[in-house]
Amino acid sequence: MTQTDPRYSILFEPVKIGPVTAPNRFYQVPHCNGMAHGRPNALAAMRGIKAEGGWGVVSTEEVEIHPTSDLNPVIEGRLWSDDDIAYHAKTVDAIHAHGSLAAIQLAHNGCAVPNLYSRLPALGPSNMSVVWEFGDPVQVRAMDKQDIRNMRQWYRDAARRAKIAGYDVVYMYSGHNMTAPMHFLGRRYNDRTDEYGGSVENRARLIGELLEDIKEEVGQTCGIAFRFAVDELRGSDGITWDEEGRAVVEMYSELPDLWDVNVAGWSNDSQTARFAPQEGYQTDYIKEVKNLTTKPVVGVGRFTSADGMVSQIKKGYLDFIGAARPSIADPFLPEKIRTNRIDEIRECIGCNICVSGDNMSVPIRCTQNPTMGEEWRRGWHPEKIAPSENPDPVLVVGSGPAGLEAALQLSNRGHPVTLAEAGKELGGRLTRESRLPGLASYIRVRDWREHYLLTRPDVDIYFDSKLGPDDILDFGFEHVILATGAKWKRTGQGRDNRIPVAGLDQTRVLTPDDIMDGAHVTGRVAVYDLDYYLMGSTMAELVREQGHDVAYVTDASTVANWTEMTLEQDRVQARMMQNGIAVHVNRTLTAVTDDQATLNCIYTGTPENIPCDTVILVTERAPNDAIYLDLKSRPEALQAAGIKTLECIGDAYVPGTVAAAIYAGHKAARLFPNCDDDPDMFKWERPVLEPGPKTY
Ligand code: ADP
Ligand code: SF4
Repeated sequence: MTQTDPRYSILFEPVKIGPVTAPNRFYQVPHCNGMAHGRPNALAAMRGIKAEGGWGVVSTEEVEIHPTSDLNPVIEGRLWSDDDIAYHAKTVDAIHAHGSLAAIQLAHNGCAVPNLYSRLPALGPSNMSVVWEFGDPVQVRAMDKQDIRNMRQWYRDAARRAKIAGYDVVYMYSGHNMTAPMHFLGRRYNDRTDEYGGSVENRARLIGELLEDIKEEVGQTCGIAFRFAVDELRGSDGITWDEEGRAVVEMYSELPDLWDVNVAGWSNDSQTARFAPQEGYQTDYIKEVKNLTTKPVVGVGRFTSADGMVSQIKKGYLDFIGAARPSIADPFLPEKIRTNRIDEIRECIGCNICVSGDNMSVPIRCTQNPTMGEEWRRGWHPEKIAPSENPDPVLVVGSGPAGLEAALQLSNRGHPVTLAEAGKELGGRLTRESRLPGLASYIRVRDWREHYLLTRPDVDIYFDSKLGPDDILDFGFEHVILATGAKWKRTGQGRDNRIPVAGLDQTRVLTPDDIMDGAHVTGRVAVYDLDYYLMGSTMAELVREQGHDVAYVTDASTVANWTEMTLEQDRVQARMMQNGIAVHVNRTLTAVTDDQATLNCIYTGTPENIPCDTVILVTERAPNDAIYLDLKSRPEALQAAGIKTLECIGDAYVPGTVAAAIYAGHKAARLFPNCDDDPDMFKWERPVLEPGPKTY
């Protein structure tokens, strides 16, 4: 067996968490996943893979302890009654099967949730609005002493159930502005005048009581973890290290068996690479904690470098390397470090596509790891792929994310692969877009795949090879996969705006493709964004940096509207405003002349003219599917050329995210040669009928 590099052996030391011992310092902290109580089989398989990949502790997502803590429609864990135990036991067993500790994060969501499913009143320290902006316009009941006693009992009940389910570590969660203990602690929510309000000691009282209750209930056999946001990064309005963070750590320093510390809310904790490019971006906030307690400390910061992890331990900042996203992008990260395969780590790129799944209540997805969320329903394993029964040679045309992933996985299945690329480097949109401001980390998606492909003897890569249909017919490959990408449209059509913008022939019109090709931008610029994701705001930032007057126009109500799902929206908008970009929301671009653009209000239709010399259209993309359509229309020619299978994948088939293209490439290789998207190829979870499903 390969010996671990001695530089990293410190990462594989066991660490005690109260009465239990973690086998190493790799700690998958709680993370949401859009599966949870709604998709328990998928959940168990996903957590089991993490344990198999070497994470010494594998945690659940947040788990609602009572129907007054009902996060619907967001799907989190649930432990409302004894009947929920069996679902958890399945996850615990999947984790224990690989020798890891299973941790559960108990949560009462306090005034964060309107209890849409249970229809019970929300509970919190004070009478106030429910914090969740998308919920019903209902308020929170200020808890009286009996409510507090009830809540303490619910925590005890949940802890007892967690122990029965087999969990080794039981969390009390006070983070992300999501739970009652945190709401009691926060000055802005707590206007009580009793012993639970006023001083920090009073506001922190519930935290101490809950920790003591849980410890008394299950502390003999389970480690008690406290997940605590030490600072909310919102100044004196929020929890700050100086006012509450340090005080709570000092007050309860030895009460939990483990401190899991971070900054809140979620958008601060899970910052994207666009806004926090460096790993360890939370260290300055959490490094003091270890000086105040003898108990082990875990923290996160998108750690993917083994040297960086060792330095966190050696500097005395952390005892455990916490990870959510790095464990999603590469569930086998610990195992790769242990077996000296560091260059095989699939590093998280900090894009938060994983987070978007939770925000939309659908199973987790990952840009880097296409098997994430597919462990149960498709039976995909991040490190294993079945060898092909007929490993015939395959021609892959185009080396963007779809082509790269298809080529790599086909090679892993034993196929000789020829990869033809029109350009001079691999990567397609990855290479181009990673040169734009804030998107550098996307190059990791290319690099991880390129690293393998360049060294495979059975993979031939041809650059400067722009193939046409007849070239493909001439080559004599029996199997052809087209991954030729997409290009931005020049019409201004997008979303519900299906009429091309009038007058585009009278002005200078550019698309992101032109800009990435080096087009020169002149004069005052209007960026029209109907894409709602990264590209519109990125274009605006780029041309603003070049010194142009820039107007950002969108028919959505906010800048880069969809980035709400990736926790970036407020940052994107703030940066744009701070950079002096004029923001025009709720506007459609209806016409342009050589020196102005006409914007119409989406509500009233009222037109407004703004000065504009160049329009950058970031609306939607057209697939580069000409080769595919041509070849498909000539079945005799395909037959004469001996082509048995012809597939079109990724953006060339249907434009989408990089995550979608990677997934398409992976799926094409997994299912090859039957790449059709038959829904029977994956399983889905069904609610159980009472008294039981009828058989037909
Ligand atoms: P996807 O996201 O679907 O992988 P990309 O747009 O990132 O697509 O990548 C498509 C790649 O295909 C680009 O690198 C482009 O140069 C290449 N390409 C497009 N058409 C051809 C062609 N006819 N022959 C070879 N390569 C092509
Ligand atoms: Fe990292 Fe993006 Fe994957 Fe999330 S989706 S784990 S941020 S690479």
